[in-house]
Amino acid sequence: MNPAPSLDSRRFRREREALVQQLREKGITDERVLEAIGRIPRHLFVDSALWPRAYEDIALPIGFGQTISQPFTVAYQTQLLQVQPGDRVLEIGTGSGYQTAILCALGAEVFSMERLPALAERARERLEALGFHPAIRVGDGSLGWPEQAPFDGILVTAAAPSVPEPLLEQLAIGGRLVIPVGDIQEQYMHRIVRTGPQAWRDEVSYPFRFVPLIGERGWPNKGEVEEL
Ligand code: SAH
Repeated sequence: MNPAPSLDSRRFRREREALVQQLREKGITDERVLEAIGRIPRHLFVDSALWPRAYEDIALPIGFGQTISQPFTVAYQTQLLQVQPGDRVLEIGTGSGYQTAILCALGAEVFSMERLPALAERARERLEALGFHPAIRVGDGSLGWPEQAPFDGILVTAAAPSVPEPLLEQLAIGGRLVIPVGDIQEQYMHRIVRTGPQAWRDEVSYPFRFVPLIGERGWPNKGEVEEL
């Protein structure tokens, strides 16, 4: 997929190339992930007032107290997920839809869950405009999407207090779950591989800061996030 010329511009393409270069310098090595970030127009996933900052390596607000993740975080999580074309991938926290687009660009069959209907709807429209047609469902992703399991990859883009058991169960053998786990201030990235019917291997790497995963197996809803 290449965005229609009206949706992109030479300036944004140059800025994307510079961003890809920065991500390389920060240690992202997966060429397919870098290529996807070089191709997907991130500016289209934020309000036009933020377009001048769309290719900085920072998180940006997307409304409802939520953020589009920093490009380094998107690249790092996607690299850990090791997506192969045709993989069934579940994303928890559609948000802007940007990470969803990266997964689609890598050739995955993407299922994405978002608890806030307004964000899910906006993401769906943006993704369709770019020619991507992931399955998007409004609901509590901390319980996963059992009807579509098993998944080759599950990517959680919000902070979990612990690893939700349903997500472990919805992994295929050999499947990867990438999830930030910790308290509200700081979470460590976990990459959990299901190695057998009742066996999982957990690798922990760097600290990050995500917005909270709110749900039955996440944080309780204290009402700080407006439903609309
Ligand atoms: N991947 C997104 C990141 C958005 S921030 C992007 O690239 O823009 C995390 C998102 O997770 C928010 O939109 C938030 O509403 C959503 N979220 C939080 N708890 C959730 C849950 N239990 N199920 C589904 N989505 C959830």
